[in-house]
Amino acid sequence: MSSPVEFSFTDYQPYDFANRRHIGPSPREMEEMLKVVGYPSLDALIDDTVPASIRQKQPLSWGAPMTEREALDRLREIANKNTNLVSLIGQGYYGTITPPVIQRCILENPAWYTAYTPYQPEISQGRLEALLNYQTMVCDLTGLDVANASLLDEATAAAEAMAMSQRVASSKANAFFVDENCHPQTIALIHTRAEPLGWDVIVGDPDQDLDPAQVFGALFQYPGTYGHVRDFTKIIASLHAAGAIATVAADPLALALLKSPGEMGADIAVGCTQRFGVPMGYGGPHAAYMAVKDAYKRSMPGRLVGVSVDARGNRAYRLSLQTREQHIRREKATSNICTAQVLLAVMASMYGVFHGPEGIKAIAQSVHLKAVRLAMGLEKLGFAVEPKVFFDTITVHVGPLQGAIMNAAVAEGVNLRKIGSDRIGISLDERSRPATLEAVWKAFGADFRIAEFEPSYRLPDEALRNTPYMTHPIFHMNRAESEMTRYIRRLSDRDLALDRAMIPLGSCTMKLNATAEMLPITWPEFAELHPFVPDSQSAGYREMIDDLADKLCQVTGYDAFSMQPNSGAQGEYAGLLTIRNYHIARGEGHRDICLIPTSAHGTNPASAQMVGMKVVPVKSRENGDIDMDDFRAKAEQYSAQLSCCMITYPSTHGVFEETVREVCEITHRHGGQVYLDGANMNAMVGLSRPGDIGSDVSHLNLHKTFCIPHGGGGPGMGPIGVKAHLAPHLPGHPERNGEGGAVSAAPFGSASILPISWSYCLMMGGEGLTQATKVAILNANYIAARLKGAYNVLYTSKSGRVAHECIIDTRPLADSAGITVDDIAKRLIDCGFHAPTMSWPVAGTLMIEPTESETKAEIDRFCDAMLAIREEVRAVEDGRMDKANNPLKNAPHTVEDLVGEWNRPYSREQACFPPGSFRVDKYWAPVNRIDNVYGDRNLICTCPPVEEYAQAAE
Ligand SMILES: *Cc1c(COP(=O)(O)O)cnc(C)c1O
Repeated sequence: MSSPVEFSFTDYQPYDFANRRHIGPSPREMEEMLKVVGYPSLDALIDDTVPASIRQKQPLSWGAPMTEREALDRLREIANKNTNLVSLIGQGYYGTITPPVIQRCILENPAWYTAYTPYQPEISQGRLEALLNYQTMVCDLTGLDVANASLLDEATAAAEAMAMSQRVASSKANAFFVDENCHPQTIALIHTRAEPLGWDVIVGDPDQDLDPAQVFGALFQYPGTYGHVRDFTKIIASLHAAGAIATVAADPLALALLKSPGEMGADIAVGCTQRFGVPMGYGGPHAAYMAVKDAYKRSMPGRLVGVSVDARGNRAYRLSLQTREQHIRREKATSNICTAQVLLAVMASMYGVFHGPEGIKAIAQSVHLKAVRLAMGLEKLGFAVEPKVFFDTITVHVGPLQGAIMNAAVAEGVNLRKIGSDRIGISLDERSRPATLEAVWKAFGADFRIAEFEPSYRLPDEALRNTPYMTHPIFHMNRAESEMTRYIRRLSDRDLALDRAMIPLGSCTMKLNATAEMLPITWPEFAELHPFVPDSQSAGYREMIDDLADKLCQVTGYDAFSMQPNSGAQGEYAGLLTIRNYHIARGEGHRDICLIPTSAHGTNPASAQMVGMKVVPVKSRENGDIDMDDFRAKAEQYSAQLSCCMITYPSTHGVFEETVREVCEITHRHGGQVYLDGANMNAMVGLSRPGDIGSDVSHLNLHKTFCIPHGGGGPGMGPIGVKAHLAPHLPGHPERNGEGGAVSAAPFGSASILPISWSYCLMMGGEGLTQATKVAILNANYIAARLKGAYNVLYTSKSGRVAHECIIDTRPLADSAGITVDDIAKRLIDCGFHAPTMSWPVAGTLMIEPTESETKAEIDRFCDAMLAIREEVRAVEDGRMDKANNPLKNAPHTVEDLVGEWNRPYSREQACFPPGSFRVDKYWAPVNRIDNVYGDRNLICTCPPVEEYAQAAE
């Protein structure tokens, strides 16, 4: 008997299956699309689109693509090479328990992790509320007025605080003081950041070495890295008397027990919310925080969520003080923070909601008393324990026993912190159990039981907090898991993420984040490693990182990669520092001019500014290309001082410029280096390599091209690749080599999300990655072809093609009908879509990038919506529709528009169910259009006392 399905194992083509996961259009759909675009084959389209002069010679190859099962087996093998001990190393990273409801419903939930940055507030109300909860929690714990919605890590947050202090201090001093009790990686980053800007850094004992008149600001760690808890009130007052700014880096869990930085008079507080339920992940990602006094809110870097009203006067959330990133002001920039840590901030905020202030306080008390017990045992053994006043961390003087005790601890399954040559640091946490303490005692040579010790606070009354925190009803809701699950679900239902519709964001490459790629990140062998464990315990991680680096070298044509930068902008910063160090090493440290086309992403000039370079803008031509005459002239003019140029390829206008090699040659001829912004790598992988074109260094946004999800505005990874001559100047890290130059708190940045990119490479193979690029280009050209006639596509190559994205010009509609790019973006919400990138790189335009992941059906749905919108505009142009009262101006429409009075000159049907929208699965925006101006005039950045929370409250 023959089997009903004709299928033999030799027919099995894993490659086809691999492609069908990541590549949206089926082969038949591709044929149809190619007909519309006007090419006989995909390769013919690619040959006509990607200039022959930049095509790579060798195809990408690292063996056959793996199936999901094979890739997961390989990841399991790698994970097993990591050793999961209990890490009591502290130094900014602590064991924590992720409440399972948060792990499953947020971290492992595509409704949360596939969302984009909330620039379109009407479709982002869920994550904006979660972020507002986060800001409220941070403000309460730190005792300060305004907190941002996260920064990349504690060390970069501290460096941002230094830069902000320099801007706002009335003191004109040129030095920044850093308490020697700060975490070593924080001190390293402060040095990195200060040096190019010419600020002196004084590291020392605040009582001995701090002269307030000498500094524009100072940073203190609270509790200190070695455990000390002290009151900084007097020192802060003396800083203020000298016109300097005080920053306290504070552990948010400790703040549940301790007097807050605000009560001590601090101007800025920074820190990390990792221990609020976010696993250590061998360094990240986690959400760092920054909170400031009200007077400084307009100088604060990062995104700030605020409260406004919608067109009906209902409360609505939005990003405040910025349409995009107001602090990224190109040449005048003060910070380059773009992608931050939204998903992790959401997790930390939900940890706050889950536990409430009583729960957080109980955890803090328990951690403290465990540490006291531990200290009592060690004291009984005769060891000198420091300090006398501490929260969770103690330092033990062990003299020559250091090595033996550390090793004995590892044998007991516990990592301790080596301090100098004669001390050991121990930090306890939420996860520490009686057995943990007993294991540590055993390593020190004692067989104690925890019941032998009756602990009492080692915190004097004056150190204790007596101000309330987290008083808002959201932190007091009934926390039955049914309520938690529903609250998390309610918020995610308000948002439009990739699990509902395509997000056609130019430059931001919102592609599939495949489930098989996401699974490993919560495996304990990846999630729970402390970043500073001995190398013998992280062999799997480093093997994976090395292999990913090899593959990225192959993809880019570079010779070495640094995985340290944890966002694209950090990558730019790290890459430019590398260039700077290279020039200095060659005795050409005077080279400080950076040529940047005016069309560049705002982070480019901002990053250049941060490494002390002078930005010289280069003109763009009418067609969006770099103006070569201007480029040549500027290179000539600044020849002797030229440090580098920063270009984006394909250009931010979505075109493969033919002149890119010439740009590199000119730059090199004048002694400069080429930084190629790799954000658009999705148009290049397998077809063209920056390293072959003549570029010296690039960052890759792994959260764009290599499948790490955007998380609603972070996490990300921005590793940099360099040519061999720059490799010796890549970032270092105090925990791996003493050379410094660290750009992130952890040596491999947000290491725990690297398995996503690695498994993407494994499952696609070189061939699959190349196919993805080709289909990304096909999808973009298909959209351009379908929208042709209705909209004008702004920039194309000589052959009339776009790369992986296209810009459509909506400015004529503003002239003919008064319809703005905003109106179109909001109307797209009614159609069930997230808007494309608005007004960048050209004001009044939309930049559309479909990516290879989208099917023909979804792209057609989008095109149908765009064409229908064009017809609605035409109705206004023709006078058939009112200029002010029409579906575009009133978009988005909500359920509120379906009930009550209706006196608009168009039907409810037309309002709510335009082409593209689904009847049954309709996405309903939870609010009508949001008033941006109102929100900035009446700035509220913490949870307002609202009745709507009442239903969630007890
Ligand atoms: C996204 C992007 C960046 C910034 O990357 P982040 O990860 O958000 O910091 C820089 N340049 C371009 C062209 C980009 O699209």
